[in-house]
Amino acid sequence: MRCTTHNSSFVRARLQAAWHRISSILSVPASPPSAAARGSQPRRLHRFEPQHFSSLSALRASANSGAREIFLIGCSDQGPALEDLSFAPPDSMLIQQNLAASIPSAGNHDDVTSLATVEYAVALAHARHIIVCGHTACQVIPYWLNSTARAHNACPYYLQFEREVRRVVDREYGSRISATERLRLMLEEQTLFQLENLQALTCVQQRLATGELHLHAWLVDDATARIKTYLPQSGQFIPIEESSATPPVPCHH
Ligand SMILES: [Zn+2]
Repeated sequence: MRCTTHNSSFVRARLQAAWHRISSILSVPASPPSAAARGSQPRRLHRFEPQHFSSLSALRASANSGAREIFLIGCSDQGPALEDLSFAPPDSMLIQQNLAASIPSAGNHDDVTSLATVEYAVALAHARHIIVCGHTACQVIPYWLNSTARAHNACPYYLQFEREVRRVVDREYGSRISATERLRLMLEEQTLFQLENLQALTCVQQRLATGELHLHAWLVDDATARIKTYLPQSGQFIPIEESSATPPVPCHH
């Protein structure tokens, strides 16, 4: 399902630059982790199994496999930029876009199209990687944080964000953080909660259990065209080019 809410040329140009950056990252050797990445404190809001995540090299291999092995879930206001991913051949990925790359949580049946698309990608198309991709120039989440929107918004995905993300971040960090830091945490946590919703689906659980499917959470910085990926071992987002230099994750294929 595609429900594009904002599609400015500025955002598209930034994202296209980001995807070209991804392309170069996925084709060059990884560098060692930065001191900042090694020293950062983990957050423990989520329950992920490190073996359900794959190495960057496995993602590279799938991108070049010639088969549709990557399923990418992005935000509506990323527009057609997601289709310009140059690290993978054209038409080699399955892409789904909706508001803030949302996945229905357990019991939320308001978006059966997204659920059906996930099931198709995982159970029928046999995707080997699922990427939930957030981005820093997102205009959906700032809108959802706007007090006027909060007073009148009945969108199921907004209500899910309010319940799963906004309240959790504000409870955990309260007034100790700046508005900029709060927004960054909302973007990261939105991505991670969607990944949790994904791994709660039966079709996803079945293929995670056999090691045939792997998870990824990305956050694209639209201003710098850099990608951060979530590292379950540390509970932090780190630059994707540093992720291969971290302790190896068991891979069953
Ligand atoms: Zn967005």
